[in-house]
Amino acid sequence: MPHATLDVATTLLFAGICHAMMAGVLLLFWRNRRTGLGFGWWVACEAMIAAGQLTAVARAWSPEPWTLVVANACLIFSVPMVETGLRIFLGQQTRGAMLRIWGLAAIVYLGLLFALLTGWSMASRAMWFSGGLLLQAGISLHYLWRVERGAMRLPVNLMLASVLLLTVALLARMAVLAPQLGGQFDIQHDTALALLNITSIFAGFCRTCATLMLVHTRIETELRRTQARLEERANTDWLTGVASRDHFESSVPLLQANAARAGCPITLLLFDIDHFKHINDSHGHQAGDTLLQRIGQLTRAAVRDGDLVGRLGGDEFAVLFYNCDLSDAEAVADRLREQVKQLPTPGNAIGLSGGLTLLQPGERFTSAYQRADMALYSAKGAGRNQLKAMASPQPA
Ligand code: GH3
Ligand code: MG
Repeated sequence: MPHATLDVATTLLFAGICHAMMAGVLLLFWRNRRTGLGFGWWVACEAMIAAGQLTAVARAWSPEPWTLVVANACLIFSVPMVETGLRIFLGQQTRGAMLRIWGLAAIVYLGLLFALLTGWSMASRAMWFSGGLLLQAGISLHYLWRVERGAMRLPVNLMLASVLLLTVALLARMAVLAPQLGGQFDIQHDTALALLNITSIFAGFCRTCATLMLVHTRIETELRRTQARLEERANTDWLTGVASRDHFESSVPLLQANAARAGCPITLLLFDIDHFKHINDSHGHQAGDTLLQRIGQLTRAAVRDGDLVGRLGGDEFAVLFYNCDLSDAEAVADRLREQVKQLPTPGNAIGLSGGLTLLQPGERFTSAYQRADMALYSAKGAGRNQLKAMASPQPA
């Protein structure tokens, strides 16, 4: 009864086309130099395997030794490319490691050339080739097993799986070759080689997925980092480091909801530097900026962790005192006013005028702001450097 066999030339052709397609897919994703460092090595690896396998197929039409020399060079030197790419990607390309993996590839290849020139039998050459690749795979396994994975666990494990697959196929081929070393060996009907070719497709698929995932993970991490930086910048007042107006206002509903759940009060303080324009005019804008920064620092130091400090614009600051009633907030604000008065200045002592009011549960920020602003206005009218409180309307 006829039975199906795996034809070496067909599997080589099929594997060569698959690797060429994988190189093509990787090439499409190779765009960003910073996030994709080392990526070129992975593209080159798949392309080299494709070139090696297709050149080996071409031996059917061009059996001269050059096809063998080129095909083996492509296949042997494709192995260190995976590790080289990963080392560059992770910033671990030490001279010793590079020498080891590329040196071994060179030894395996030179040994094969020597075997060709000195007329070794086909089976012995195939054994040398498989043994050499196995040694190379072993070194890659050792590196991939120990490499720090972090967020890259899955892709590195996939790469490890690709090398493991090849290791098993190489071991199987060597086991099949061993008894044939002394006798007749026909490489065109070497089923173990055909299986190795098929395995190389699965290994290439794992590698391709792994490399794409590695780059994807890095891009995702960079995007998240950039997003956090941008959010931080948008939420912070560039000069004083306290919350920006936008962030301050948008934080109110969440604070209110927390306070409502906990049944605790929130007090809003609005304060403004007295005669700040005069400081700018007489001592320069830089002196004004420094004073704003100093007041920002003092305010942050004066309040508790759950409170929120913001600069609403110009020389106007605001504080949301969480779990703090009007009189307690007034005491903190008064202490702050005293501290600001003590600040060393080239001219007169700096005064602060402030207005306080309770922020009612569910009340819109603008309506509490209007009350605090009226209180601030009345503090200014009453001679500045003082605080005024404005009662909030009784809830219905
Ligand atoms: P008042 O006691 O009534 O508050 O008088 P004032 O001089 O402080 O008046 P006002 O609050 O209206 O003046 C604010 C000044 O703050 C006007 C503006 O030139 C200045 N200013 C606004 N933003 C900045 C800033 O970022 N840096 C500096 N140095 N000055 C600023
Ligand atoms: Mg002012």
